[in-house]
Amino acid sequence: MPEARSVLVVCAHPDDESFGLGAAISAFAAAGTPTSVLCFTHGEASTLGADAADLGHVRSQELTAAAAELGVGDVRLLHYGDGRLADERLDELSDAVLEMIDRSDADLLLVFDEGGITGHADHCRATEAALAAASDRRLKVLAWAMSDEVADALNREFSAGFVGRDATQIDLRTRVNRERQERAIACHVSQSHDNPVLRRRLALQGEWEVFRWLTPESVQRA
Ligand SMILES: [Zn+2]
Repeated sequence: MPEARSVLVVCAHPDDESFGLGAAISAFAAAGTPTSVLCFTHGEASTLGADAADLGHVRSQELTAAAAELGVGDVRLLHYGDGRLADERLDELSDAVLEMIDRSDADLLLVFDEGGITGHADHCRATEAALAAASDRRLKVLAWAMSDEVADALNREFSAGFVGRDATQIDLRTRVNRERQERAIACHVSQSHDNPVLRRRLALQGEWEVFRWLTPESVQRA
C-alpha cells in the first residue's frame, strides 16, 4: 500500500470498512500505519438482518468488533439516515470528515470508488464528502475499485449494478492477505451470514485488490 502517516477511512455503512476496505485497512495496519474510520450511517435500512429489533444498534456493535479485528485505532459512527445520505448537505458531511482528519492527523483518505462500487447512492455521497474535505486540506485520496471482469461477472450472475473499471482506469493493483478481513466480516453477523454476493465477489477477487487515485486535481498540481 502507499506510504502514509495516518489513514482515514470514510464510508457510508457499518460493514463497508470490512466487506469493501477490510483487506486494504489491515494491510495499512500491518505496515504500522495508524487507521481510523468515519462511518456516516448505522446501516439501519439494510434488508439483511431486518428482523432485528434495532438493526442500527446491532450494526454499530458489529462495527466496533470488526474495527478491532482490522486494527483500526479510532471509529466515529454518525447518525445520518441510511439510504438518505445523498439528501444531506455536502458541506455538513465534509465538515464531519474535516473534524475526523484533525482528530486522526490523517494525510491519506481511503474511500469507495466514485461509482460507489455497488452503485449505492450513499457510497457515492460518502466519497463525495471525502473528496471535498481532501480538496480543503490538500490530501491524497485512494479509492478501492473493482475491475471490469469482477463487476461484469457479478452483474451477470446476480443482476446487480456493480461499477467496474477497465485496466486504464486502475492505478494500483495489490496482492492482499484476507485473514483479518475475513475475521472482520464474521463480526458483521447480521450482514454476512447469508450473503452470496459477498462470498462470490471475494472469490472472484482472489488475493487481489485494485485502487484508483481520486486525489483532487488542485491537490495534484501543488
Ligand atoms: Zn455500504
